Amino acid sequence: MEFFNIIPGQPRRTLFWGPVATAKTSLLGLGIQWVSRQKLRHLTFVPSILYKSGALQHSRTGITFPAVAFETLAQAEQLVNEQKPQVVFIEEIQFVEELPAFLDFLSSLNITVIMTGLNSRDDGQPWPVVRDIIHTCNVVQMPGICHMCGATNALYSRNVSGQSSGPDHVLLDTTKQQDHDIFRPTCYKCFFAK
Ligand SMILES: [Zn+2]
Repeated sequence: MEFFNIIPGQPRRTLFWGPVATAKTSLLGLGIQWVSRQKLRHLTFVPSILYKSGALQHSRTGITFPAVAFETLAQAEQLVNEQKPQVVFIEEIQFVEELPAFLDFLSSLNITVIMTGLNSRDDGQPWPVVRDIIHTCNVVQMPGICHMCGATNALYSRNVSGQSSGPDHVLLDTTKQQDHDIFRPTCYKCFFAK
């Protein structure tokens, strides 16, 4: 659990980075449980695009944790100012447009941040917000198992739904949140195969 070795006065950013279905959310949930046991004040943000009524996030392995929606930078900063967390968790950072400013704000308060994010969009390109902050993070690469050839180095998320994800590259079944039926981990070779 070296990732969660949270040292007061030594804030750092950890990013679990990978394609879909690589247990990123499960690791985040374990981190939240660990921080709770250490009795550290903490807050978990989820992009509003993924926020569900009840505010409970579920990993594929069944780990659940409470979270608040990231609506605007001002609202998120206000909540941090009120609750004074020592650790902030952020799910699916690729959807948080104001992430760079929010991370700057958290760093100014010496707050440790633990995040999950996707390696790439369904066109194989990086998510702009991830590209903007990844060099500031301790990156934990989470490779997936290629759904086409079984290689264990899958970093891409392939859209297998037959539907276009559109210009925002977002395609979610918002009623079930079953993105594993829409995107699957794919290796470089299979992702770019003609
Ligand atoms: Zn493959």
